[in-house]
Amino acid sequence: MPLSKSKLIAFRQCPRRLWREIHRRELRDDSGAMAGFRVGREVGEVARRVYDPEGKGTLVEVDELGYEEAFRLTASLLERAEGPVFEAALRAKGALAFADVMLPTGSRGEPGWRMLEVKSTTGVKDYHRDDLAIQAWLARRTGIPLTGAGIAHIENTFVYGGDGDYRGLFREVDFTEETRFRDVEVEAWINQALEVADAPEEPAIPMGPQCSDPFDCPFAGWCSRGEPVVECPLSWLPNFNGPRRAAVEALGITDLREVPDAYLSELQKHVRDVTISGETWFDREGAAAALAPHGFPAWFLDFETVMMPVPIWKGTRPYQQIPFQFSLHRLGEDGTRRHEAFLDLSGDDPSAALAASLVAKTGASGPVFAYNAKFERMVIHQLAARFPEWAEPLVAIAARLVDLHPIAKTHFYDPSQHGSWSLKAVLPAIAPDLSYDRLEGVADGEMAVEAYREAIAPETTVERRAKIEGQLLAYCELDTLALVRLWEGFRGKV
Ligand code: SF4
Repeated sequence: MPLSKSKLIAFRQCPRRLWREIHRRELRDDSGAMAGFRVGREVGEVARRVYDPEGKGTLVEVDELGYEEAFRLTASLLERAEGPVFEAALRAKGALAFADVMLPTGSRGEPGWRMLEVKSTTGVKDYHRDDLAIQAWLARRTGIPLTGAGIAHIENTFVYGGDGDYRGLFREVDFTEETRFRDVEVEAWINQALEVADAPEEPAIPMGPQCSDPFDCPFAGWCSRGEPVVECPLSWLPNFNGPRRAAVEALGITDLREVPDAYLSELQKHVRDVTISGETWFDREGAAAALAPHGFPAWFLDFETVMMPVPIWKGTRPYQQIPFQFSLHRLGEDGTRRHEAFLDLSGDDPSAALAASLVAKTGASGPVFAYNAKFERMVIHQLAARFPEWAEPLVAIAARLVDLHPIAKTHFYDPSQHGSWSLKAVLPAIAPDLSYDRLEGVADGEMAVEAYREAIAPETTVERRAKIEGQLLAYCELDTLALVRLWEGFRGKV
């Protein structure tokens, strides 16, 4: 069987990965891959509408046709050159691929084709160029008169005007010349990859930066089983990368507790020393002093947002953070605690209703605490820009935001944080009784987005939507309750 383009790209990442894709595929960890497939499918469908507005094109559906029929149909369509061809099946000398878009550029009797590889990112990455180089090589080897080869990626300044009009969603970057120059290189990859694929044993390649660049390798779990276990790995040192990390690794040091001062920043030294001590470090007075200027009532805010590569709501951009939910706790000076929430699962743009609800529920005074507040600030300012009628009170709420993250980073560290000050890393050390593990269905931000997408899908039942609603409300409420507990801890109440 020829090697598919995805297997060649796996080879480019790591020959050991290619070998496992072929001989030990059952070891793959595919959790998390579904979201990527869904995005690719959505973007591909829109690309077919954009590049074939008159509907004259043909989609070569290999799953329905089978490989041989897909190759036969592609050859026939490219010969006739009567319209665009999508997922054109190409094969030559040990490799095969499906070209996203083939656009006829020639005239009758002198056909020519422009190839476009559609990407859901907002720019071109190096591995996209490898992708395209492989496909262009296949096309030329098959004898297709290729007049152009490029990448069509998402244009992030595009604003959806509604009515299914996605003209302008894609920006094209031409790589015709580059693909010509890379033909020899591509042929060498294919020959090397075929050798690896045929080898009886997997290549002895140690884990390294390639395991997560440009993709998280689905075999990482298995490869790491053979690696020596390091009690406190260097990855627990915040931002410890580049030449200093390479120099430390060259000394054979793998445990952060053994790294000399000369290689570390002040923060990294602090993490190392607290790790060695095994004790929580807490600057109580400093944390309390940082919170002292902020009075009552105290508000605690968290948004859940969704990013659509293909915007579905009028007036929104690709990958814009659209808030669909917030949770808000209010603490009075007398110790009373109140909870408010907003969640829209109607499938309509939730932004206007959310903006109005946020203004109505967040009182006129008092600090609004958030964790990594620049995100809440950005969301609120985007809402203010879209809805002038709410702009003034929204901007006023944004001005009251107080970030608990720098307070945590400056005044608190527990060895269990493993070099992270994310809310979920800090919380167990301050409020061990509050656990995301006890939540059902939705326990982190990614799960919240997937749950939201499922809830707004037309095929989702009323019962299922109601269940998701309960899970989302419980998750977001826990996020702001966690902020309350952090705030209490930093004020010395715990
Ligand atoms: S985990 Fe790393 S070493 Fe193992 S196959 Fe994947 S990329 Fe190669």
